[in-house]
Amino acid sequence: MMNINILFIVIWSLLNISSVILSKSCSRENSRIVRDYFRKALSSIYEKHDLSIPVECIFSSKRDIYYHQELNKIKITDNRWLCQYCNKLFYSEYYIDIHMSNRHNDTLIHDEQSVCLSDYCSIFRCDVLKGPKKSFQSINIFTRNSDVTKRKSKKIINEQQLTILRSRCASIINECVPHNIKHDIRVKIQRKCSSLHYKYFSH
Ligand SMILES: [Zn+2]
Repeated sequence: MMNINILFIVIWSLLNISSVILSKSCSRENSRIVRDYFRKALSSIYEKHDLSIPVECIFSSKRDIYYHQELNKIKITDNRWLCQYCNKLFYSEYYIDIHMSNRHNDTLIHDEQSVCLSDYCSIFRCDVLKGPKKSFQSINIFTRNSDVTKRKSKKIINEQQLTILRSRCASIINECVPHNIKHDIRVKIQRKCSSLHYKYFSH
């Protein structure tokens, strides 16, 4: 009996340690940028046609490791954030994020399918999306020389890199197209990456 208890404690500790490592290695801020990009670019199509995101898609809420935690962070004002797990208040998102890491790591989605969205930052151009607050329509993630990418810290990409990014973006978005949907809606979703690129040339 004693041995079983010790084994249980060891397994529990290992699970806890792995959750801490997971949350430390996956940037919450960058995950949020990638998540928001998908939400702003595509969620209206899903809502309009009452579609659900397939689990194969990296943006499925079943796979995003921070999904539950983000859902339980309530922004009351710019400097008032509520943790719905324990009703504590925080001055900023930065501090509530630290609190989530320290107190609620048991709520992370952590299985073989879970995804750290910040791992996709290079494809969805977090460096561009992170720029100064702009309206979403004015941001083109595939722009090579917008006012945002001209900044020193932003990586300016060439035509070849642009093609690679578009192709990676397309294969990710392709997995997010629900099965058995009308052809025109399927095309609308699939073309999201290239239409963003088209916007660049149309400016
Ligand atoms: Zn809390």
